[in-house]
Amino acid sequence: MRKIQMVDLQTQYQHIKSEIDRGIAEVIESTAFIKGPKVAEFQQHLEQYTGAKHVIPVGNGTDALQIALMSLGLKPGDEVITPTFTFIATAEVVALLGLTPVVVDVDWETMNISVDGIRKAITPKTKAIVPVHLFGQCANMEAIMSLAHEHQLYVVEDACQAIGAKYTFADGSVKQAGTIGNIGCTSFFPSKNLGCYGDGGAIFTNDDTLAERMKAVANHGCFVRYHHDFVGVNSRLDSIQAAILDAKLPHLNEYIAARQHAAAYYDKAFAGNPHILIPGHEANSTHVYHQYTLRLQDVNRDEVKAELANRNIPAMIYYPIPLHLQKAYQDPRYKKGDFPVAERLMNCVLSLPMHTELDNEQLEYITQNVIETVNR
Ligand SMILES: *Cc1c(COP(=O)(O)O)cnc(C)c1O
Repeated sequence: MRKIQMVDLQTQYQHIKSEIDRGIAEVIESTAFIKGPKVAEFQQHLEQYTGAKHVIPVGNGTDALQIALMSLGLKPGDEVITPTFTFIATAEVVALLGLTPVVVDVDWETMNISVDGIRKAITPKTKAIVPVHLFGQCANMEAIMSLAHEHQLYVVEDACQAIGAKYTFADGSVKQAGTIGNIGCTSFFPSKNLGCYGDGGAIFTNDDTLAERMKAVANHGCFVRYHHDFVGVNSRLDSIQAAILDAKLPHLNEYIAARQHAAAYYDKAFAGNPHILIPGHEANSTHVYHQYTLRLQDVNRDEVKAELANRNIPAMIYYPIPLHLQKAYQDPRYKKGDFPVAERLMNCVLSLPMHTELDNEQLEYITQNVIETVNR
């Protein structure tokens, strides 16, 4: 049996080596390392894939979020609502820009931002909601978009974990993660569902004005070269990464299917085990399983993780500390106990190996050993 890894990028690379190597070689031979034709090609292919009117390639997912928020004309002290149970980048950029992160709890089943929580957190200072499509399924976008309309709020989707996930609205329309709100952000960090071989990210929008503004923000605040209209940043997807992504994009649907196969295998094996709760589903979203995250009960999660490591099965805790309990985000408005679901999740979640190269032999070994371990 092949060694079990959280993410197996080596095996994936071996399957597409000739396409990747050709793309990289083309960029090196052209020496168009920055803003080369590969970046524009990938951008167009990603527009076709996602249905977004504009894709703006940038340096990484965190930059994407920062640039998105910088384009909205918000003022210091304006409030931005984010879930407390997420990767730090979601709130980091809010704080960095002098905006006020307002954190809310998540839903126990889906682990996505609680719509009730959002509703209660809205104040006259609220300007935007940043829902996170955590672990690969969309947050409840029907309800979030209607709240946003009602209160005239921007919606910036953190779709870093959910590229390719699809959401079906009550009117029957289907949209991809990141193309629903005013702006969507994604990351091409190597282990993400569409990962490059370094850092990368992209912004999605259907709004022409925001698209122009965000391109300028990402390019030192200029619309015309050497004419700087406002303070921007430098954030670019480099051409080698674009070539790698352009080679991988045609495989994204197979990759999603492989993840869904692994998740279905896990779901079936764990169903009914009294110690294991399998991931709950958001009603109108597909799940692209960036992570397959169990909630364990009546068993010591950290002991389970250690025993799995003894059996050569890696597992990870996403996330061990919610935002409101992070040292850097201490805020007199929040204290331990305020967000009980997130605080329960941090002690019971366990993410199992999830990637495009898991075979049934590995899945059988993992599921058998997880069940043995939790039943001990
Ligand atoms: C990965 C990730 C980011 C940041 O992406 P980087 O490319 O690492 O900057 C932001 N939000 C979430 C939810 C993520 O998973």
